[in-house]
Amino acid sequence: MTYRQLPKTMYTDIHPTPVKAPELVVFNDELAAELGLDTTLWKHADLLAGNVVPEGFTPIAQAYLGHQFGYPAMLGDGRAILLTEILTPDGETFDIQLKGSGRTPYSRRGDGRAAIGPMLREYLISEAMHALRVPTSRSLAVVLTGEPVYRERALPGAILTRVASSHLRVGTLQYARTQDVVKEVADYAISRHDPLCAQESEPYLCFFQEVLKRQAKLIARWQALGFIHGVMNTDNMALSGETIDYGPCAFMDTYRSDQVFSSIDQTGRYRYANQPPIAKWNLARMADALIPLIDQEEEQAIERLLEVLNTFEDHYHGAWRQAFGDKLGLKNVSTEDDILIKRFLSLLENEEKDFTNTFIELSDNPVHSVFSGEEGHNWHRKWIEQIEKDGSFEKAKDRMLRANPRVIPRNAMVEEVLQQAHRGDIQPFLEMLKVLKDPFAKDIPEKYMKPADKDTDYVTYCGT
Ligand code: AMP
Ligand code: MG
Repeated sequence: MTYRQLPKTMYTDIHPTPVKAPELVVFNDELAAELGLDTTLWKHADLLAGNVVPEGFTPIAQAYLGHQFGYPAMLGDGRAILLTEILTPDGETFDIQLKGSGRTPYSRRGDGRAAIGPMLREYLISEAMHALRVPTSRSLAVVLTGEPVYRERALPGAILTRVASSHLRVGTLQYARTQDVVKEVADYAISRHDPLCAQESEPYLCFFQEVLKRQAKLIARWQALGFIHGVMNTDNMALSGETIDYGPCAFMDTYRSDQVFSSIDQTGRYRYANQPPIAKWNLARMADALIPLIDQEEEQAIERLLEVLNTFEDHYHGAWRQAFGDKLGLKNVSTEDDILIKRFLSLLENEEKDFTNTFIELSDNPVHSVFSGEEGHNWHRKWIEQIEKDGSFEKAKDRMLRANPRVIPRNAMVEEVLQQAHRGDIQPFLEMLKVLKDPFAKDIPEKYMKPADKDTDYVTYCGT
């Protein structure tokens, strides 16, 4: 495990705590094949529950910091254990982690465990995100532990096997800085994610720039899908640019720019419209951690980091424009089209339209206005003019159908299949998972496309 090359302060050697009765609930054969995993080894509840640790595996819990809702806290893998690292046939390295595998030195007051509902929820949503072409950690399996976990009530315990191109976070660098090992950790992160930066004259600025670009693109993808992460603390922002830590996240039905689902996000810090500025805020925390690597003169270092940090808006805006331009079938998106996109979104909000379905309606039948008001009709006329200027209607339609998914994991349906799973019937979950794996298909069953009657009251909880 390459992470173990890092100074000892960055991790603790630890084995998963064995559980009573491991039972496989769901296994991702497709992902196993992609990763070149030997299923005679991996497709076993005992391994995926942490009861059996194969020879050669040297599991650890990682240490990291995190700004949680703006305030720093010492964290670390409190209920996750990095089981091993794998090298795929394509030469890519992935971490395989067990989440819910027992207490670690970083557990604080937590029990180190997870309940079946949140683990299946992460499995479903992360796999849906992957199918929606969003960089994300993946899910290999969920197993039941045969032991209860105690939340407001006793719930069946479960463990998720998570796969990610690394679990290095902004918070990993923040912690490294406090331990005077930020160079070692940054060099390691560069070797894993940005090896080309190692050859640059300014490797750490190059690395910062690359992480920033990945985050700008990632957040633009979230926005284009109406995805709200819910807990964008610096420990939940991966240096790889993958979406990580599916806790209180949710997709919105009705478009509201100030939408919040998480029960603990009282001030709306992580609301939909605030995701881009929060990403930049988190990147500023990464910049803080890199200061000693940039210049001996702190002021000089800050100035140079700021120069990179301030490219965030341009990168984000470019990715946003591309994503929404595609969603509206626009070819070469110009400043004028920006206005068209923004007006479309404000019309969606004013007319309280469903985010996903309105794009689909427009893609399926572009000649018909999706809005009812006068202003909406004006927008539609302008949009048609633009499409015709760009070329053929058919081409625009193609672009739109490729960019707009017909199905997202809608909150009401997610809850329903999780409740059925909790009652012992996993079939509806598996059926929904199958539909979500092909979100651009034409023939999505109606029930998965139906918006909730009212989703303002939907509340999500941190994945405990
Ligand atoms: P999160 O908000 O899920 O990113 O978690 C923040 C921190 O709390 C991380 O360090 C987690 O490992 C830790 N944590 C969350 N739930 C538990 C739990 N049940 N037991 C121990 N630690 C936990
Ligand atoms: Mg976390």
